[in-house]
Amino acid sequence: MTVNEMQQIVEETAANFIKTFVEPAAGEIDEQETFPMSNMKEMGRLGLLGIPFPEEYEGLDQSFASYISFVRQLAGACASTAMTVVAHTCLSGHPIHSFGSPLQKTVHLSRLATGEAIGAFALTESGSGSDMASMRTRAVEHDDHYVLNGSKTFITNANVADIYLVAASTAPDKKMLGLTVFILEKGMKGISTSSKKERKLGMRGADMGELIFQDVIIPKENVVGRKNFGLEVLHETLASARMGMAAIAVGIAEEAQRHCLQYVKQRKQFDQYLYQFQTIKNMLADMEVNLNASRLLLERAVHLKDSGKPFAKEASEAKLFASETATRITKDAVQIFGGYGYSRELPLERLFRDAKLTEIGDGTSEIQRLIIADELIKRRAKSSFNPVGGQKL
Ligand SMILES: Cc1cc2nc3c(=O)[nH]c(=O)nc-3n(C[C@H](O)[C@H](O)[C@H](O)COP(=O)(O)OP(=O)(O)OC[C@H]3O[C@@H](n4cnc5c(N)ncnc54)[C@H](O)[C@@H]3O)c2cc1C
Repeated sequence: MTVNEMQQIVEETAANFIKTFVEPAAGEIDEQETFPMSNMKEMGRLGLLGIPFPEEYEGLDQSFASYISFVRQLAGACASTAMTVVAHTCLSGHPIHSFGSPLQKTVHLSRLATGEAIGAFALTESGSGSDMASMRTRAVEHDDHYVLNGSKTFITNANVADIYLVAASTAPDKKMLGLTVFILEKGMKGISTSSKKERKLGMRGADMGELIFQDVIIPKENVVGRKNFGLEVLHETLASARMGMAAIAVGIAEEAQRHCLQYVKQRKQFDQYLYQFQTIKNMLADMEVNLNASRLLLERAVHLKDSGKPFAKEASEAKLFASETATRITKDAVQIFGGYGYSRELPLERLFRDAKLTEIGDGTSEIQRLIIADELIKRRAKSSFNPVGGQKL
């Protein structure tokens, strides 16, 4: 089978799955705040959780572009499911794929790719959000293991995950250069959750909770990469996940635009269709231009990644622009629908609530602006740049 034939099969499988399973359940998943477990299991069965991973680890060996395209379409149908997938694939599977040992890939990546296990990525702490350098979770090295103590907050999939990628400080004096990422598994002694699913503005089906680590013994073979190598792992993982978040933003915004384009041709006021009002036309035009710009920025970042070139700055640009665009477009979509937009009978208010998260998760818009500006300054005046700033890289 050629690469193109395989890609076509993946696209058709994804489109069928979204239409049959995801679209019909999305409203209820949001309303009932239910974790989309059956969607996850079905995606695992179909291979869709392993799109960018090698076949030897149960993946489909497709490009990152193919994976991002799937996330975008998924988000248009159910952003909670898309968010769950990004935390599972980009934040949990991806670092194992890029930095893990062959054993870690065989044992853990394969289980993530088939949906046998659900992944979570734990970086944020109650006192350490944008500022990773203030992390307090510590892992102390012993002969053949580490002992982990601390806690993580706002973790997607915390209450449902089987595999956790956890960042901890292994050399507190080195701050950002003293971080290490570990693979932990459900059932290890000393791991607990608060069992409380955080209630959120949007993405209500996606699980989010707290992880607590008390004297957890982690075998040394569970270190991702090597000791004090966490910054590199986090840098690459977050940059990749930002493209996932940008894809979610684009998917949500496209769905809002689709609804608007139908509605303005149906709804009449003052004997005119809505699309005949200049102010509505302005909103539709701005939606289109900003969506196209978001798609192009995302495409550029993804292309760089697929070509093996540096992509962190471009991923931040795509995430920043697409997320702020999604918030604006969904706000305008609610406005175009008037009272019906505000009503919970239609999905516009859900899209509006879901979009906001894309400006916060995987690094806020403010942090993306810092990354972009720092990179620009670094390129122009390398000698005076301090790369160990401390913000979420
Ligand atoms: C639904 C959801 C899911 C999440 N999932 C995960 C997950 O799976 N794993 C995980 O590890 N984390 C997760 N997070 C956490 C998320 O990454 C953080 O919330 C985010 O990075 C911001 O950190 P904070 O909330 O502590 O805000 P803070 O860092 O306290 O920031 C507060 C405000 O100050 C601004 N700010 C902070 N520093 C600066 C600065 N230097 N310059 C300018 N402005 C600044 C911020 O932009 C923000 O506006 C999730 C969060 C949410 C809401």
